[in-house]
Amino acid sequence: MLNYNDTTIAYLVVLVILIISGMLSTTAGIVIILIITLLYVSLLVIASARIQMNFHIKAINRGSKEKAKVALTFDDGPDENTTLRILDILEKHKIKAAFFCIGSRIEKNRGILKQISDRGHIIGNHSWSHAFIFDFYLPGKMVREIEKTDAIIKEITGKEPEYFRPPYGVTNPFLSKALKRTGHTVIGWSLRTFDTMKNKQQVLNKLETEISNGGIILFHDTNPETAELLEQAIDIIKNKGMEIIRLDYLMNDEFTE
Ligand SMILES: [Zn+2]
Repeated sequence: MLNYNDTTIAYLVVLVILIISGMLSTTAGIVIILIITLLYVSLLVIASARIQMNFHIKAINRGSKEKAKVALTFDDGPDENTTLRILDILEKHKIKAAFFCIGSRIEKNRGILKQISDRGHIIGNHSWSHAFIFDFYLPGKMVREIEKTDAIIKEITGKEPEYFRPPYGVTNPFLSKALKRTGHTVIGWSLRTFDTMKNKQQVLNKLETEISNGGIILFHDTNPETAELLEQAIDIIKNKGMEIIRLDYLMNDEFTE
């Protein structure tokens, strides 16, 4: 499996060989270096945006493919308009899920966070700001965001989060360094529903065609349409003979990737 350290070492070794062999003084050598550098940078960009590649960070992106079980996850809350509606639907269907919450939103919706926890769901850390430039922060600043979010979750629920999901699912060497310090288990996903971008029918179609055993499904509890489609989504999953279980139980199954 490709990872950041091995790829960077390989790139540097090729670079040194080209320099030592004197190829840098030739046009062909310069072209080769430019192509290799372009490939290296492209790989870094693609891998940073795809958490499933486990390039910068080892993330858990699914459970066992052998078992007809999946887990639901909801990002970016707690939301004052939608999270409680989602909690009610989950309770009606006796489903426990995982909510990756943003610290600054928790501050405004403390009661909702408490309800998520009291109703038996998992609360994960999804950074304090979820800032668009989060991935450009230095490790120290990332650590402060993550720890501040852990602290408010612990203050309200009494439990310290074990899991972290990177904002936008983007990973990089700085985040890798930060997470080595905070010690969180990193959670990705196997199926992103794009519920904040697609219409309800498109989301349901995607679920119908792409769901598979061991799936970790990504929704957003900030999106009113997600609350509207959730019962149908649950029906689709159950009609495929799949059981919806809480993320930590799914993770206890043997991983296949
Ligand atoms: Zn998010």
